[in-house]
Amino acid sequence: MPTVREIESALYRLAPREGAMDWDNVGQLLGDPAAEVTRVLVALDITEDVAAEAVRQVAEYCAAHYGSLSFGTGEVLKLIQSRVTGGGYAVDGASLLDEADFTTANLSDADKGGGAAEVMIHELVHQWWGLGNMFDAAGPDSPWSAEGLTCYTTYRIAKQLFGEDYAQEHYVNQWQQAVDDYYLNFYVRHPEYLERLPEAQRLQISNSLSGMRQYCEMPLKILKAEELVGGEEAMDQILRALFNRELDPMYPYLTYQEFLDACGLTEEALNLD
Ligand SMILES: [Zn+2]
Repeated sequence: MPTVREIESALYRLAPREGAMDWDNVGQLLGDPAAEVTRVLVALDITEDVAAEAVRQVAEYCAAHYGSLSFGTGEVLKLIQSRVTGGGYAVDGASLLDEADFTTANLSDADKGGGAAEVMIHELVHQWWGLGNMFDAAGPDSPWSAEGLTCYTTYRIAKQLFGEDYAQEHYVNQWQQAVDDYYLNFYVRHPEYLERLPEAQRLQISNSLSGMRQYCEMPLKILKAEELVGGEEAMDQILRALFNRELDPMYPYLTYQEFLDACGLTEEALNLD
């Protein structure tokens, strides 16, 4: 089995490092160069075809399951390259994506999807379930955010595109693993030690822990809700109604309580064992 370093060297023989422009992110960006490679996914060249296909799939799936977006003036979905926040961002019919969304680190972010195209799908799904058009910023203690329904929808799209086994392995099992690890995490079990760390380190750890809860714990809870309400179709109807609900102009955001009420479930019912 070749290692990451061997593959990198082979790529340099094909395309010498000296040929890179200064904005090209060449070389290994993360991970262990000695790790053995079993699969290679070519991702950085997000061609127009790949992008257009992802846009088409997400738009078709979400429009059919939740309803069409209203784009305001112009009535078209705009893909805008602009750096505003970490990750894709969606508001008022504009999906904001930029080079940082297409780095190896983002495209291989297993929390967002099983591969580069699925991370792209995740970023586009935010058009339906997005911070700015649907969700308030998450409270520090709550895993409820735009990521829960976005990860859940990305999983459903992956399931439709690549089948049940794939979706189980790349989404559900990964979420479960991350949640198991979370509750075994030293700082989760002993928060008093987290307090004693230097601020930068403490923030880094608590951000990654709360990210895990938003990206993994909440989708698992939504999956549990799906089971309790009677399956995918029942959940789709609930989400469709929530997506099209009448908005309170003073607080036009979808809260966890509204989600629970729509499912007819209590918070305790979605506790994971
Ligand atoms: Zn996201």
